[in-house]
Amino acid sequence: MAETWELAEGVEVVELDGDVELPVRCFLLKEDEKRILVDTGYGETVPQLLNILEKRRLSSIVLTHLHIDHSGGALAVKKAKNIPIIYHRLELETLNQAINLDKSIHRMFADVSVDFLQEALHVLKVLPAPDFFAEDGMAMSMWRLMHTPGHTPGHVILVGENHAITGDLILVKETSNVAYVPLPGYHPLRNYLESLVKVASLDVEMLVPSHGPLIKDPMPRVREIFSHHRERLRQAASALEKGRTSIREVAEEIRWSKGSFSSLTPLDKWLALLETISHLDFLAETGYAIHGNSLTYTLSNNPDWRNVEQKLEQLSNGIYRP
Ligand SMILES: [Zn+2]
Ligand SMILES: [Zn+2]
Repeated sequence: MAETWELAEGVEVVELDGDVELPVRCFLLKEDEKRILVDTGYGETVPQLLNILEKRRLSSIVLTHLHIDHSGGALAVKKAKNIPIIYHRLELETLNQAINLDKSIHRMFADVSVDFLQEALHVLKVLPAPDFFAEDGMAMSMWRLMHTPGHTPGHVILVGENHAITGDLILVKETSNVAYVPLPGYHPLRNYLESLVKVASLDVEMLVPSHGPLIKDPMPRVREIFSHHRERLRQAASALEKGRTSIREVAEEIRWSKGSFSSLTPLDKWLALLETISHLDFLAETGYAIHGNSLTYTLSNNPDWRNVEQKLEQLSNGIYRP
């Protein structure tokens, strides 16, 4: 069942639990006599959340991103409280793309069932349109919004005086999925690592993620995450070296946390394919690979692994050495 606790004065944490895949947190931030609600949990946790919100006056809803464990309760809360909802423009663009997913995408991943996507989209289609767009640097009461793309294109966090509410950007028990989305200028893995370093370097006492343990010293975890992605880049690179070219073939050569590609559920296969593209895109950006047509990649004429490692080291701003 849901419980709430006070992280600091004017910062209340709502822990939503129950019959869901992963428990998730929402936050209530004091704004004068009202509260800003950050994230809304799953559709399944709406009754718990509304119960907690019953006696509270809200001023607005901010969504860190539109994954259903963060946005699933948005419509219900908006209806109950009639307040503005705020999220980043790129989340809306990503959502529209997903809704317009046409047969070509299905064909690309022909052998992966995408029924679960229709299910998720069913929830997202009824998501209220934003009343305002979340912008990098925007002030919300005592907090500042920061755009931290990479887990999703329009992921935002809230930075306060002593704490940062970091959504799904940095988690301790799982590694955030870094999914490819075809938006101009979006390079998911590079953007993700840039966001990670930016957030790890914040001058706050504690990072407060949406799932799992709070993070007092992010540096060791940041190094682990860098080395996790270096490992995946290396596996993608050696798949290309072996002459694998399709995203699917490369994904089959990567060691996924939940097991081999063929053993994954349809949803996890989908996430694995999108994350494979993010890694191939990074290899292409560093000159190791060439982006072919219709979602294939090949080794470049002059693949130099040192360039990939140098890029990682440079992005880490001195935190990580491969
Ligand atoms: Zn997420
Ligand atoms: Zn999440």
